Amino acid sequence: MTAEIISVGTELLMGQIVNTNAQYLSQKLASLGINVYHQATVGDNPARLKETVRHALSRADIIVLSGGLGPTGDDLTKEAVADALARRLVRFADAEETLRARFLAMGRDMTPNNLRQADFPDGSELLKNPNGTAQGCILRAEDKIAILLPGPPQELIPMFENEVAPRLEKLSGVKLYSREIRVFGMGESSVEYALRDLMRRQDNPTIAPYAKTGEVTLRVTARCEDETMGEALSLPVIDEIKKRLGDVVYSTSGVTLAGVCAGLLMEKNATLAVAESCTGGLLSSVLVDIPGISDCFMEGAATYSDLAKCRRLGVLSATLDAYGAVSAECAKEMALGMRRGALTDYALSVTGIAGPGGGTAKKPVGLVYVALADEERATVKKVLLSGDRARIRALAVLHALDLLRRRLCGLPVAQE
Ligand code: ATP
Repeated sequence: MTAEIISVGTELLMGQIVNTNAQYLSQKLASLGINVYHQATVGDNPARLKETVRHALSRADIIVLSGGLGPTGDDLTKEAVADALARRLVRFADAEETLRARFLAMGRDMTPNNLRQADFPDGSELLKNPNGTAQGCILRAEDKIAILLPGPPQELIPMFENEVAPRLEKLSGVKLYSREIRVFGMGESSVEYALRDLMRRQDNPTIAPYAKTGEVTLRVTARCEDETMGEALSLPVIDEIKKRLGDVVYSTSGVTLAGVCAGLLMEKNATLAVAESCTGGLLSSVLVDIPGISDCFMEGAATYSDLAKCRRLGVLSATLDAYGAVSAECAKEMALGMRRGALTDYALSVTGIAGPGGGTAKKPVGLVYVALADEERATVKKVLLSGDRARIRALAVLHALDLLRRRLCGLPVAQE
């Protein structure tokens, strides 16, 4: 069986982004015993895209496309594939429903062009996308298969692992065993550097890294006959990764940082409350996403103003006057006050400057303090984060959770 990968996007042709999807897909297809004889990269141009799709279909059994599934006019992949395989684009009612629910959950208005993301070539089988709005699809036409995947790697990789690989395993008769290793506290390039020889000599299992906001995920995938063999091949590599990266590895089974914290709290029968300033409820929200969290998460307060910090958490006006709300002292008092009021075992606090305004030379945008109060003391960590307001808030949440994870696991914390 042969496959051709088509990467769609003018950004790729212009050299603005590196085509990591093609590398990932090639590795995966090779693991599945599917031969990739050609790769193509094409811009967002309808005529050239159609021609590329037709050419690929003339010489490969399977074509795998990445990118161009978005709602805008230059997202043309579905049209090109439908055209080449003589199918119409039709609206899928269940895809429309999923899309509407997703927009509702995000609190975003849906414009008519967003509905294009519910249109697929007639006869397609849809592929779920829990990480974005663009669903993928598989279209079987005569003896050919077209697989359409979204461009962002954090959407494409999980979709391939969860939706595409099991289908291709059936076709090729090769089974894949895959584990997700999650890392917080080390950048993607440092992770890759630490693992460079392992990654270079990888064959079975393979290691594929990808970065999400503030985190790095490594996919270890083994080609195997069954799960036992897959585990036997993967475990030594996972152990080696853990040995090299150390305690920045927080999960080897794809659990989120909040999920790991929740698991540890439940294991210890311990309770948590949170007091948030710059994250304004985001930390609570991330925790509440976890089913069953009510066993350990007691309450959260978005104490945004100085007044709220004093009234609800007992932060001293003298502390605010002397050090300001974005300070180690304030973070500490917030955590201690929250723990006292909520009567929990642990309390986390977050205070910082999310920007874009409000920064000074001494306290720049991105300066964040996270603190954890327990029965013995309050521990504070100072971090300097970069990015826009949303990214700084998201990273602040991860730092707060990591502080809790480290405390619950008895790991050292670089303190303020
Ligand atoms: P969206 O739903 O986000 O619109 P899409 O399927 O339309 O997704 P594109 O618009 O083509 O995808 O790409 C979105 C982003 O995904 C790009 O800006 C880039 O960051 C990333 N991306 C796209 N293609 C690749 C690739 N081949 N390798 C790595 N990253 C890619």
